[in-house]
Amino acid sequence: MILDGWIAQRLGVSALTRGALLEWQRRTLREIVARASAASPFYARHLIGVDPSEPGTLPFMDLRPLAEDPLALLCVPQGAVARAATLETSGTRGSRKRLFFSDEDLEDTKSFFAAGMAHVPGSRTLIAMGGERPGSVGALLGEALGRIGRVGFAEGPVSDPSAVLGRIAALNADSLVGVPAEMLALARTPGAGLVGPLRSVLLSGDAASRPLVAAVEAAFGCPVFRHYGMAETGYGAAVECARREGMHIREADLLVEVVDGEGRGLDDGEWGEIVVTTLTRRALPLIRYRTGDEGRILPGPCRCGSVLRRLEVRGRLDDRLTLPTGTVRLGELDEALHALPWLLGFDAAAGRGPGGVLLRLTLYSVSSSELERGREAESAVLGIPAVRDAWRGGTLRLECAIHRRPDGLRPGKKRILPLEKFPSAPNGSCGTSWTASGETFWSFHLLKRSGER
Ligand SMILES: [Zn+2]
Repeated sequence: MILDGWIAQRLGVSALTRGALLEWQRRTLREIVARASAASPFYARHLIGVDPSEPGTLPFMDLRPLAEDPLALLCVPQGAVARAATLETSGTRGSRKRLFFSDEDLEDTKSFFAAGMAHVPGSRTLIAMGGERPGSVGALLGEALGRIGRVGFAEGPVSDPSAVLGRIAALNADSLVGVPAEMLALARTPGAGLVGPLRSVLLSGDAASRPLVAAVEAAFGCPVFRHYGMAETGYGAAVECARREGMHIREADLLVEVVDGEGRGLDDGEWGEIVVTTLTRRALPLIRYRTGDEGRILPGPCRCGSVLRRLEVRGRLDDRLTLPTGTVRLGELDEALHALPWLLGFDAAAGRGPGGVLLRLTLYSVSSSELERGREAESAVLGIPAVRDAWRGGTLRLECAIHRRPDGLRPGKKRILPLEKFPSAPNGSCGTSWTASGETFWSFHLLKRSGER
């Protein structure tokens, strides 16, 4: 069982039960609604006349108030803010959202990290997450590992996989924490097999496809654990136990709901938008916050015996292509392309083109190779039914190029980018300044309709 003992301690009960947890959630929800309404000008307006004993009737919120006037959400004096986080919003507006944490908020996160990591094997962990500033996710995790007698090495995002492999060996690290796309690049960089076997890899910060998990496990000879969290959830939200069948939610601090497009609650097992309420946050609580992430609560209890519900996440709701033949999630491109054994990573850009949608894919490979890889890439992309049907029907144009490994990878969360951010290079391949050093050895434009090839 993971986290149950830690949560029982926080609730002041000897053994955690579902009943005790629900009672705690009801009480802390009433408290946070009362406190937020009294302390924050935004919530005073937003929560006017609500009944906190009926959680399903509370109004939703999204990231807009965090971008427009974040100080209006603050529930403590500004002097009590220990960390302010400024984040790019994932929408196309290009605005930034701000979040504030008190010392107690950061302490809660460290406490969660320490409890969650106690079940993830390893004693010397390379942390490939942003950790340069105090209170950042990497710094909090490093402190948490110290509390359970482990050593965390702050590495930061991976831009040069070979150099990171060198540091894993030099530090004698036996475990890794990092973003899925960056861990895939690491796993498929020559020499990855020489640093293992490791004891664990924890993936965080983005959804991870099945072939990606399998590739990381194979390269490092160890189990992969998934973690879900974002700044809004105090960085930590849910983590897998040893069974690795869904991420157990930090339910003393977070009330998690899954809702449909109309805001109606969905049954366990149904995919929808993840909505979170931060039950114990002091500085800037969020109440029924629509995360924009797609997920579901897994039905039934985990075989580990925990009473904590399990979450499965499959990426951003707006990260999808709408085609006349259906929608294609970025996660579907991940599933199809990560299965290519030579793929380090890829970029996808899409937008309106002449006669329909243009999807532009740039694939990164370990080394230049024969034409065969282009054929493999083509059949992987066209293996997605909605893509194949739209392409055959002439409503989707596909551009694809394969680059030999560029000098640097673009770190962080994967997105489907707007076309203008990823222009087609004059030679017909795709590229931006950071891939300019990569050698394009194969490129195709799937411009023809079925029957013309
Ligand atoms: Zn479990």
